[in-house]
Amino acid sequence: MRSHYCGQLNETQVDKEVALCGWVHRRRDHGGVIFLDLRDRDGIAQIVVDPDTPEAFANADRARNEFVLRIRGRIRLRPDGTQNPNMPTGMIEVLASDVEVLNTAATPPFQLDEHGKVGEEIRLKHRYIDLRRPEMIDKLRLRSRITHSVRAYLEAQGFLDIETPILTRATPEGARDYLVPSRTHPGEFFALPQSPQLFKQLLMVSGFDRYYQIAKCFRDEDLRADRQPEFTQIDLEASFVEESDIMSLTEGMICQLFQEVLDVNLPAFPKMPYSEAMNRYGSDKPDLRIPLELVDVNDLMRDVDFKVFSGPAKADDGRVAALKVTGGAKLSRKDIDAYTDFVNIYGAKGLAWIKVNERAKGIEGLQSPIVKFMEGIIEPLLDRVGAEDGDIIFFGADKTRVVNEALGALRVKLGEDLDLYTQDWAPLWVVDFPMFEADDAGRLAALHHPFTAPSCTPEAFKSEPAKALSRAYDMVLNGTELGGGSIRIHDQAMQRAVFEVLGIGEEEAEEKFGFLLDALRFGAPPHGGLAFGLDRLVMLMSGAKTIREVIAFPKTQSAACLMTDAPGEVSAEQLKELNIRLRPKAQQGGNGEV
Ligand code: ASP
Repeated sequence: MRSHYCGQLNETQVDKEVALCGWVHRRRDHGGVIFLDLRDRDGIAQIVVDPDTPEAFANADRARNEFVLRIRGRIRLRPDGTQNPNMPTGMIEVLASDVEVLNTAATPPFQLDEHGKVGEEIRLKHRYIDLRRPEMIDKLRLRSRITHSVRAYLEAQGFLDIETPILTRATPEGARDYLVPSRTHPGEFFALPQSPQLFKQLLMVSGFDRYYQIAKCFRDEDLRADRQPEFTQIDLEASFVEESDIMSLTEGMICQLFQEVLDVNLPAFPKMPYSEAMNRYGSDKPDLRIPLELVDVNDLMRDVDFKVFSGPAKADDGRVAALKVTGGAKLSRKDIDAYTDFVNIYGAKGLAWIKVNERAKGIEGLQSPIVKFMEGIIEPLLDRVGAEDGDIIFFGADKTRVVNEALGALRVKLGEDLDLYTQDWAPLWVVDFPMFEADDAGRLAALHHPFTAPSCTPEAFKSEPAKALSRAYDMVLNGTELGGGSIRIHDQAMQRAVFEVLGIGEEEAEEKFGFLLDALRFGAPPHGGLAFGLDRLVMLMSGAKTIREVIAFPKTQSAACLMTDAPGEVSAEQLKELNIRLRPKAQQGGNGEV
C-alpha cells in the first residue's frame, strides 16, 4: 500500500511518485486548496490537494483529524517562503493525485499536540491515541534500539536467550507475590515470578554457562514511588565467574549501549563500598554528578551544650553530619523553611544551619540559630567542612538511618534545585553490601536476596552472620540503581545456613526451596549474575520523567489499567471452577482505591 514513510521524504526525492499511508494530523482549508499534514510513525509530510483532482479533493474535504488515508502523489519543493526548516520534511510537499479514505475517526478525546491540556488519566484511558504522539513513538523506538543493542552484545558474548516460566512458585525478591489460582489443583496457587532468579541459577546447574533473558517480573508492592507491578529486567547469569567477571562484562554492555544509542562515552566506573556510599552520600545509590558530601562531626558535637546534637553524637546508633553547600548563603529563610519541610518527610525533626557570611570575622561573621552553642568548636568545624564565605552548612542529627536518608535526599534536592551538576553521566559500582539488614525488632532480612553468597568464610559467617558482607554489586548511574546482582551460594550447607539466619526453618526451606537445595547437591558450579531494570534504563536514556512514559501500556499508581479496566471482577461460574468463594464486599481488604 505504501512506498515510503512520511518522515522519510526529503528534497532529494523531488518529482518522485510516492504512496503514503497514515493519519490526518491537521487539515487546513486555504481557500480552494486543502493542506493535510499526514502522520505515520516516522514523521509528518505536507500533502497539497488541488480542486483540479476533484475526486481526491472531495475525499480530502471530508477528511477530519485522525482519519486514516492513503495518498498517492508527486513530491515537489515547497514554494519559496513556505518552507519550514524546523520540520525534517519541511522543504517539500506532496501534490496528491489520489486521496483514499481507508477509515474515518471519531473526534479524538484530545488533540495530539494538546495532550498537555488533559490529565494523564485521559491519556492512559485512550493509550492507543496517546501512543500516536511522536514523543511516545520516539521513546518506544529508543526502547527497541536499547533491547536490540543489549541482545546483540550478549549474543556476541556467548549468552543464550532462554525463557523461564511465568506460572511458578514464589521467587522471593522482597515484595508480595501476585497469585494465580489453579483450576486443576483446587485450593492451590501459582505465583508470578518476582524475578527469574531461581530458574537462572538452575540453568547454571544444568550447564548452560551463560544465560540471558529480557524478562517480565511481577511484584505486588506499594506503588508510592515510580514503580510498576509488572516491569522488565535484562536478566543474566554466568557460571565459573567472580564479581569482576560480571562487572566488567555488564559495564562493557552499558558502555557499548550508550555509545551506540546516544553516542555518549561513559566515564570510568569507580567502585565504592556500601559503607563509604552511606557515609559520604547518605545513600547506596549516590548521584556522583553532585559535588556535595556528608561530613561526620560526631566527635566535635559530643560535648556541645545542645542536646539535639550531643545526644546523637554520643549514641551508638546516632550520627551528626554536616552538608556544606558552596554559595548556599544566598538561600532565603523561605528556602530554608522549605528544605526543613522536605527533610521532615524523611523523619528528620529539624534542619539546623549556619551561614558563613565572613569567616575572617569569627563567630560574628556567621549567621545561625545554633551558633551560640558552638563557640568552642567553630573553627575546627568550619575547617572540617572546608567552609568559605558565601557557604551554608546544613546539619542532620538523629539515628544514623534518619540522618543518612534525610541529608542524602537533601543533597540530591539541592543538586537539582541549584543545578550543581558537574557532569552529564556519573556511573559507579557499589560493592561490599552487608548480607542482612535488621528491622526494628532486630529480625534480619536479606539486603539483596537469600541466594547471595557471603564474602567471608563459612566459619566467620556462622559465628557472626549479622556482620557478614555479601558478594553483591549494584550498578548506579546518576543516582539511579540501574541493576544489581551477586555471586550466588552454590553450596547446599551455606544456603541452609543463610535460610536459618533469615528465620526460614528446615521444613519451610524444604517446602519452598526444596528444588533449589536439591539441585545444589547435584554438582552446582560457582555462578553469579545481575539484572538491570530495563524501564528505568530507558527512562534515564530518554530523559523521561516517569517509567510510565517508556512502557507502552503501563498501570496507574494503584496498579490498575485504565484502558482495559483490569483488574476486573469475574463471573460466579469462573470462581466456582476455581473453587474460590469471595468474602462479602464489606469484609474485603485491599487499599480500596483503584
Ligand atoms: N534477581 C535479582 C533482582 O531481581 C537480580 C540478580 O541478583 O541477578 O534484583
